[in-house]
Amino acid sequence: MRAIIGTWKMSFAGVSEAFDMLKNGVPAGEAAVHAVKTVEDNPAFRSVGFGGLPGRDGRVTLDAAFMDGRTLRMGGVMSVENIQNPILAAYRLCGRPTNCLLAGRGAEEFAVREGLPLRDMRTPDSMKQWAETVSKRSDMPLDAYRGHDTVCVLALDDSGNMAAGTSTSGLFMKEPGRVGDTPLIGSGFYCDARFGAAAATGVGEDIMRGCLSYEIVSRMRKGETPREACQNALDELVKRKLELGEEAGNISLIALSPDGMFGAATTLSVFPFAAGNEKNAALYMIENLQNSVIEPVNEEKLAGTD
Ligand code: ASP
Repeated sequence: MRAIIGTWKMSFAGVSEAFDMLKNGVPAGEAAVHAVKTVEDNPAFRSVGFGGLPGRDGRVTLDAAFMDGRTLRMGGVMSVENIQNPILAAYRLCGRPTNCLLAGRGAEEFAVREGLPLRDMRTPDSMKQWAETVSKRSDMPLDAYRGHDTVCVLALDDSGNMAAGTSTSGLFMKEPGRVGDTPLIGSGFYCDARFGAAAATGVGEDIMRGCLSYEIVSRMRKGETPREACQNALDELVKRKLELGEEAGNISLIALSPDGMFGAATTLSVFPFAAGNEKNAALYMIENLQNSVIEPVNEEKLAGTD
């Protein structure tokens, strides 16, 4: 049994390639890393890796993580500026019994020691977007936070192992030093090959409040399907936020079970994602409607969405 799921349209090419890799016997971890790296390398995807979204100070700082579902080991980097592929550093850190989650300078020194390529991750486009926003506004209003997205990939291989990989530049115009859910185990991702894997994208400050990825896997352990687990975990947090007088916010979730079923949930009107199962790799979409169904869609239907 093999299967894969990735967040947003941007993951489609990498997910398709990674699904072929799984078919050829490549382990889940390597396949997930490949899919995430494909997004990191493409500057057209403005919220991940090369050409990512700058913070308020004009610096592009990146977060990434990797988790192995058989050992429950994880690795992660946060607030790194010059590592060309943060997911590769996270992957190499996974397996260390201690010191597996590194921030800033320490993470970059680790990448150098490992011989991972360094790169200035800013592009003319990302700096233009930053300069325009700075010139328009001095108070950095919340709408500057729009347009962020994380690539999250969950994979299952024929041996029954599962893996999760995540990577993001975080919120556009974020405060220097800000870290979201993406490199944080239990919030941005969780993976236990016995019960399933989950990952989150959206406003990290909200995702962390519900430890949503752990909550989803925990629900799958109790027998919920990936789709039910995503929806129920999301509903519970949204309900609490509404009770507290807050809006539902911007959160989208994906999950994969050890038997290759996938699911998603979102507070957005539509949330596209890519997934592969025994038949093919395709783009899917979930709409935020009562009883919404998850079905394959073409690019045309997804025009104008991320
Ligand atoms: N969750 C990411 C963060 O808060 C951003 C996103 O997925 O849109 O850093």
